[in-house]
Amino acid sequence: MLVENFRVESENVKYAEDEILSTYQYQTTELVHEVKDGKYEWVVRPKSVTYEFKTERQVPKLGVMLVGWGGNNGATLTGGIIANREGISWVTKDGVQRANYFGSLTQASTCHIGAYSGEEIYVPFKSLLPMVDPNDIILGGWDISSMNLADAMARAKVLDIDLQKQLRPYMQDMVPMPGVYDPDFIAANQGARADNCIEGTKMEQMEQLRKDIRAFKASTKVDKVVVLWTANTERYSSVIVGLNDTKENLFASLEKNESEISPSTIYALACIHEKVPFINGSPQNTFVPGVIEFAVEQNVLIGGDDFKSGQTKMKSVLVDFLVGAGIKPTSIVSYNHLGNNDGMNLSAPQTFRSKEISKSNVVDDMVSSNSILYGPGEHPDHVVVIKYVPYVGDSKRAMDEYTSEIFMGGKNTIVMHNTCEDSLLAAPLILDLVLLAELCTRITLREDGKGKFREQHDVGVQMKLIKYVFNGRACTTR
Ligand code: NAD
Repeated sequence: MLVENFRVESENVKYAEDEILSTYQYQTTELVHEVKDGKYEWVVRPKSVTYEFKTERQVPKLGVMLVGWGGNNGATLTGGIIANREGISWVTKDGVQRANYFGSLTQASTCHIGAYSGEEIYVPFKSLLPMVDPNDIILGGWDISSMNLADAMARAKVLDIDLQKQLRPYMQDMVPMPGVYDPDFIAANQGARADNCIEGTKMEQMEQLRKDIRAFKASTKVDKVVVLWTANTERYSSVIVGLNDTKENLFASLEKNESEISPSTIYALACIHEKVPFINGSPQNTFVPGVIEFAVEQNVLIGGDDFKSGQTKMKSVLVDFLVGAGIKPTSIVSYNHLGNNDGMNLSAPQTFRSKEISKSNVVDDMVSSNSILYGPGEHPDHVVVIKYVPYVGDSKRAMDEYTSEIFMGGKNTIVMHNTCEDSLLAAPLILDLVLLAELCTRITLREDGKGKFREQHDVGVQMKLIKYVFNGRACTTR
């Protein structure tokens, strides 16, 4: 049974007028490597950390600015939110379809909270803490293509035609602001749509983006803004000592209009200046070390890379399952074909490389977690192929073959086939990312009662910074 509303009665949860205070005991361990009787041994000491969380109850009016608003994801998300907000239903060959938020963790999943009279009770995920209602989001953003959102929705060929007709009046006056375009970072085949670009040096472009954010906030009267990159996948930018390895060097490089600073990095810098969270939905390394240092210093949430909506999501789950079950994947071959603009952009080797790296990374953690199965330096063969086939449009086909070693030298092969509109998978994830990013800005915490409540520092971001700064492979010298 689903229960829509509930209140927690616990000494660990206090509801104040403006905030919810909660206490959580985190059971973890402290590991030490020490000498005993002349020999080194590992000692594991369980420890408990008390976290106190403070969550502001007042839900703001939220503005979401998409970079790449006129793309397939941007147009599909915009149409989806309007259709839900307006309660639109449309006729398909299978009958009448109503708008929903399926595929969104926050809007369409539930959490188990206990049992009542023998029946299991669930609550909507979105009722756990006060969250923005997606129907109240005000959308805006940038695109290097000036096409209005109604035409962009038609160009995307994702939503049903009867729905498109009903959405057109709401979307035809939505026009993206000019974006930062650098043909060196995306495929040459994107040049034809780049008719809406911010002129000037990289510093001037960043300043324009800052003005755009402020103007959007003022004109829509939203309380908060979250920016999300759903523009084309860029090639990786080189991380170079003296260029972008520190905040100072990155700003100096911006002044000098250095060619290796990517558009996505320029958007991220503008957002950090404006104290606006920035989420990256594409695989490129937008967050070069200088960006991460600036975000940590300014306490601005940055997150992401690559949405992981279909094939890679399945891969993360399946490899986790196999390795966790003591089975040794030895060859993973992933083949995709798709015919949307994302596929066209990925047909260039440099942008494909960004996707390949991001799709390959998901296996690494699991392999390094089990050295019973994998010897030093051993790794499964992992191949990713992406082909552009215009005819299939946004309907991406993904075929995966996993071969694993099992008991006593046996082999097990699993084959998977997935067909789905890419943007219908990505749009609800975009929604979750912006809603959770907003929520994170209302949560502060402290450990073991020490000091003041502070914003959350993203541990992942810090780890990434450490990896970048100390990992010679990721950072080259000039
Ligand atoms: P799309 O090509 O339809 O849309 C991208 C839009 O970005 C285009 O309208 C383009 O004009 C615009 N653009 C490009 N560079 C820009 C810039 N510098 N500033 C502003 N606008 C710019 O692609 P899509 O299908 O919407 O996917 C968007 C991104 O999401 C891609 O990078 C893709 O790899 C990534 N992604 C998508 C999925 C998914 O759809 N399931 C999953 C993971 C990652």
